[in-house]
Amino acid sequence: MKVKINDNFDNLAENYLFSDINKKIAKYKEKNKNADIIKLGIGDVTLPLGKSVVDALIKASNEMASKDTFRGYPLEYGYDFMKEALIKYYKRFNVNLDLESIFISDGAKSDLGNIVDIFGDNEIYIPNPVYPVYLDSNLMAGRNINYIVGNEENNFLPLPTKDIKEGSIIYLCSPNNPTGSAYSYEDLKKWIDFAIKNESLIIYDSAYEAFIDNDLCPHSVYEIENAKKCAIEISSFSKQAGFTGLRCGWTIIPLELISNSHSINKLWKRRQATKFNGVSYPVQRAAEAAISDMGILECKNNIKYYMENALMLSKLFDEKNIYYSGGKSSPYIWFKCPNNMSSWDFFDYLLENANVVGTPGVGFGIHGEGYFRITSFNTYEKTKEAIERLKKVL
Ligand code: PLP
Repeated sequence: MKVKINDNFDNLAENYLFSDINKKIAKYKEKNKNADIIKLGIGDVTLPLGKSVVDALIKASNEMASKDTFRGYPLEYGYDFMKEALIKYYKRFNVNLDLESIFISDGAKSDLGNIVDIFGDNEIYIPNPVYPVYLDSNLMAGRNINYIVGNEENNFLPLPTKDIKEGSIIYLCSPNNPTGSAYSYEDLKKWIDFAIKNESLIIYDSAYEAFIDNDLCPHSVYEIENAKKCAIEISSFSKQAGFTGLRCGWTIIPLELISNSHSINKLWKRRQATKFNGVSYPVQRAAEAAISDMGILECKNNIKYYMENALMLSKLFDEKNIYYSGGKSSPYIWFKCPNNMSSWDFFDYLLENANVVGTPGVGFGIHGEGYFRITSFNTYEKTKEAIERLKKVL
């Protein structure tokens, strides 16, 4: 064929991380057939949906079976009942949102990837290490990428630096995947003040907001004064309510966000109306139920289960005096590989000596080299057993 392809795809690194991990496990199992491998690399929830969510899903599905209550195409930006539920949810954080600023989606990944469509050729600033979607979607669009480096000195919570150019797009993820670090009000304010002064836009990923377990870290970027003038928030029901399979998320684009006399909200509306046909009615009813008073309680119970695992894991690293971040306000624990091992050498060491699997930090960016991510999404029993094994090899 002679069709021209998007050459920017040549700039993407091959995404081998999870397939390489699975290959290594398969190879090990071939030689060690009875090995009882515990997976602490899981980045997906494992507990089932709450009762309120399932009841709402069934009720809404039944409505679709009756002529009077059947619904066709959903609204591109989400049903009002769903947006109103989010407005109520944000009031818990003392954040007031306009109905018009909320867009319901099939998950944060889609919005994080698609948001690039509405911007021109800006300088892009991305934390490193971080969730890889910000980088890859900007590479696909041919953008120039700069890294904001996370390291032990800044506790993987980098702050603004003088070299960030005016009129840039800056990604922040808090609590962060993979490092589990979460910005305090004070530090996030530094970013907002900087973005306002620097006439830049922050794209704030709060997918793990519901894991925050203290009063020092904001749940939403809009808890910070002036954030509506410089930040988009993208979030998800995936981790907070177990929707990784059901699929629902949201994006907030405040009406105050104006760049070069263009309303960013209007641009996103236009983009979504053209390329997206909305989230199904039963899923939006289920998401509405997830943030009802009862739904929140049920979700919190699941999160509590994961966080008890995270606490057990954190204690191990405290005892061993190994540097780590996360484990609090996050299902992720990010730690320094002992003896200056590389991320992949440590992966092999752990697999062979403890039959425990995690995720090499370098898979989340070059500045993740020498670190390792484990998660609290496995069962209490398996996590406890993994800790006993880790005690012997760390
Ligand atoms: N943002 C972060 C930081 C994530 O870790 C993930 C998923 O792992 C997502 C967004 C994607 O969320 P969703 O399932 O809503 O697409």
